[in-house]
Amino acid sequence: MTVTESSTTRTRLRRTLLLGVLVALFVMTGAIGTMVWWARAVDDLTAREEQTLVSRTVDRRLEQMVENVTSATIWDDAWTRTTGPLDLAWAHINFGEYYAQYMGHDWTVLFDGSGALRYASAAGEARPLSEAAGFADALAPFLSDIREAEGGITARFGFAGNVTQKRLIAADNAIWLVVASTVTPETDIRTAMAPAPVVVSARQVGDDFLAELNKDLGIRSPRLVGADKAVSGPSVALKDSAGAVIGRLAWTPARPGVDLIRQVAPAFGVLLLAVVAACTLLIVSVSRGFGALEANDAQLARTLRDLTEARDRAEAASVAKSQFLANISHEIRTPMNGVLGMAQIMARGDLADTQRERLEIIRESGATLLKILNDVLDLAKIEAGKLEICREDVTLPAAVTAICDPFRNAAAEKGLAFEFRIDPEAVGLWRLDAMRVSQVLGNLLSNAVKFTAAGTVHTRVWRSRRGLEFAVRDTGPGIPEDRIAELFGKFSQLDTSTTRQHGGTGLGLAICRELVELMDGELTVESRLGEGSGFTFWLPAEPGRPAESCRAAA
Ligand code: ADP
Repeated sequence: MTVTESSTTRTRLRRTLLLGVLVALFVMTGAIGTMVWWARAVDDLTAREEQTLVSRTVDRRLEQMVENVTSATIWDDAWTRTTGPLDLAWAHINFGEYYAQYMGHDWTVLFDGSGALRYASAAGEARPLSEAAGFADALAPFLSDIREAEGGITARFGFAGNVTQKRLIAADNAIWLVVASTVTPETDIRTAMAPAPVVVSARQVGDDFLAELNKDLGIRSPRLVGADKAVSGPSVALKDSAGAVIGRLAWTPARPGVDLIRQVAPAFGVLLLAVVAACTLLIVSVSRGFGALEANDAQLARTLRDLTEARDRAEAASVAKSQFLANISHEIRTPMNGVLGMAQIMARGDLADTQRERLEIIRESGATLLKILNDVLDLAKIEAGKLEICREDVTLPAAVTAICDPFRNAAAEKGLAFEFRIDPEAVGLWRLDAMRVSQVLGNLLSNAVKFTAAGTVHTRVWRSRRGLEFAVRDTGPGIPEDRIAELFGKFSQLDTSTTRQHGGTGLGLAICRELVELMDGELTVESRLGEGSGFTFWLPAEPGRPAESCRAAA
C-alpha cells in the first residue's frame, strides 16, 4: 500500500468512525425520544381511562340514588301517609333515616303537592324546615321540571305513574347529587291526578364521595375544584341540568409511564454516559493511532525517497563503473592483441630453446590476460545492457564437436576419459548464438577438465520439452551443497587453493548464467561432494532458417 493509498484508507476509516459515532448517538437519542413518547402516551391513556371511570362513577351513583329513592316513594303506604295529613314520624323513619342510614344520603326533604316544604332531615336527623330553606330554594327549578313531567303522566300508580329525575345541583357552596321522585301508590288507590308530594334526596360531592373515589377507583388525591378555577391535571366537569359547569372533580394523575422512566432513568443515564465515554475513548485512541500512522507514513515516505535516491545513485555508479570497465578492457585488449600477435610472429622465426620457452610463457600469460579481459568486458557489457545476442543457423553436432575438441586434448593430457553424445532428435539446424553457446559450453568444459583429477568428463546434447539441453558432467571433487548458491556470484571461487593451482577469475559461471538467461534459457547445477558435478543449460529449440536476426539484450 502506498503512502497516498494509506492516507485515503485513513480518511475513509475516519469517516466510518464518525458515522458509527453519529449512528450510536442517533440510536441513543432515538431510544430516549421513543421512551419519552411512550411514557407520555401511556400517561395520556391512563388519564383518559381515569376520566371515563370517574365520569361513569358519578352517573352510576346517581342511578343508584334513583333506585334508592324510588324504593321508598313508589309504595302504597308512602302515598297514604303523605297525601292525607302528613305523618312526619313515618316520613322521618321511611325517608330521612332510611336514605341516610342505608344509602348514605346527606339531605332528604319532602314537598307536598302544592310545592311547600314539609319535612327535612340531614344525615338521618330531622331538621327544622328553616335550615333547609336555602337548599329548598335551589331545588325550585328541579321541582318545576318534575311537575312539568308529572303533567304528562296518565298512569295513576306504579312506575308508570311515577316521575323520578336525577341531576347535579350547586347549593349552599356545595355540589350535590340530587334525585327527586314523586310519591306514587303501588296499586290503584289514587283517587285524583292532583300533583303528588315529592321526595328529594341528595348526596354531597364532598369528602365521603372523594374518599370513595380514592378507595374504589384508586384515584389519587381527588378534590373538588370550583367551576371558575383552572385545572392542570385530569378532571371531570360536573354539569347541572342546563349543561353549565358547576364544578370539577380533579385528581393527581397516575403516571405509570413517567414513573417507569424515573425508575429506569438512573440506569439509562449510566448507560448513556458509558456509551458517550466509550465513543470518546474510541475517537481519542483512533485519533492517536491515526496520528502515529501519519507520522509513520511520513517517515516511510522519507525513507522511500532516500532509498530511491540511493538506488538511483547506485545505478548511475554501476553504469559508470561498467562503462569504465568496458572502456578499460577494450583499451587494454588492443595492445594485448598486438603483444600476442608479435609473440606469434616471433615464434615462427629461429629462436634458441630458452628464448622459445620464454616466448611461450609470454604467449600463455598474454592469453590468460586476454581471457580475463574478455570476461571483464563481457560482464561490463551485460551489466550495461549492451551485450547482444545474435542468432544464426548452427548445425549440430558439428558446432559442439568443434567446441569439445580442444578440451578432448586437454583431458587426454590429464589422463581423463572424454565422452560426447548427441541424441538423434538434437541433430540438425538450429537458430543459436554460436559464439555465446560456445562460450558457455567452453567455460563448463574448461572447469570440468580443470577441476577433475581422474575419471571422466562427459558431454551430452539432447532435445527435451523445454528445448535443446546441454550437459557437462565430471567425476571431479564436487561442490558442497551449502556453497552451490555462491557458484554463480561474481568473482566467486569456492576454494582459493585450487584457484592458485588452476588460475581463473571467478567470473566464468556468473557470465555463463547471464548469457544463458539472455538467450532465454536456464543454467542449473547438480553436484555431490567427492562424486562430481553436472552443469546443465537449456535453450529454446528454434529450427534453423535462412534469415539472420539480431536482438538487443534487455
Ligand atoms: P573460475 O574462472 O575461477 O573457474 P568460475 O565461475 O568458472 O570461475 O567458477 C567458480 C568456482 O566454482 C571455481 O573457482 C570452482 O571453485 C567452482 N567450480 C566451477 N566448476 C567446477 C567443477 N566442475 N567442479 C568443481 N568446482 C567447480
